[in-house]
Amino acid sequence: MTLDTRQPASAILKFPETERAQEIFSYPVSDGKGNLLYLIEYVKDVTEEQRLQEQLIQSEKLAGIGILASGVAHEINNPLSGIIGMAEIALEEEDPSKNKDYLTDILTCGQRIGEIVNGLRSYSRTAKREELSAIDPHEILETSLKMVQLGVKSAPVEVIKNFEPGEKIKANPGEIQQVFTNLITNAFQAMNGKRGHLTLSSRSLKDFVEIKVSDSGVGISPKYLNQIFDPFFTTKKTGEGTGLGLNIVYRIVTKHEGTIEVESTESVGTTFTIKFPKWRNKL
Ligand code: ADP
Ligand code: MG
Repeated sequence: MTLDTRQPASAILKFPETERAQEIFSYPVSDGKGNLLYLIEYVKDVTEEQRLQEQLIQSEKLAGIGILASGVAHEINNPLSGIIGMAEIALEEEDPSKNKDYLTDILTCGQRIGEIVNGLRSYSRTAKREELSAIDPHEILETSLKMVQLGVKSAPVEVIKNFEPGEKIKANPGEIQQVFTNLITNAFQAMNGKRGHLTLSSRSLKDFVEIKVSDSGVGISPKYLNQIFDPFFTTKKTGEGTGLGLNIVYRIVTKHEGTIEVESTESVGTTFTIKFPKWRNKL
């Protein structure tokens, strides 16, 4: 790269045989007239850094599972309280002919829990096999929003949805959920518990479905715009941010052969625009 561009360059090389990683830097040295005299190459072993980074990414994923778990617990708790309450009343009831209503409600609540559990099962299956399937992005946007809303202390945030439904994307549902929960979490955090709005919108392009997550939060300073996707870049206090969220988002989006862009104005808000390839039925 340095030979081609005459600019310093760096890259991380991984050696699976020895399980080591090296970061290589190269610098051009020229004679002052633009002629390249030689290169200085500097090689650093970064195995340990890479390993720690992977570990942290894993722990961010676990934090994501935490959000998911608290959402699931909440979703299941309502029908479960229903079942317990109704069963208690039915047990007290002297006239068994009156129990039919209670039993019907118990059945409905039980079925609701069944749906939730089934939803989760299909989730972990596809997530494990890293399968790409036809996914309705709106469904996942809705669940992600619900999950994040359960985690934040009811900020006065108005949610505006502007969906153009219909198209499916070619994606792994678990990973797409990580993308949306990260973006929506950041959007809520950017509003700092103040009044604001979050706009989720989608539109169908020729080969892509475009999704925008837009907030009226604090915005991002132009000097940080090119760093926000870097691992560990955070402007948040320890405990609030790891700086891995957007890096994970970026990795997932590019893995899906999609793109992500950001536009932001300080004290006005931020919009993330993602494009995912459409699902095409094989002919
Ligand atoms: P974290 O949220 O843990 O800080 P992220 O990778 O999710 O890490 O985000 C990195 C940084 O990008 C944040 O610390 C914040 O400064 C900025 N950022 C991301 N999303 C937004 C947003 N919607 N509004 C304002 N700043 C944002
Ligand atoms: Mg974040």
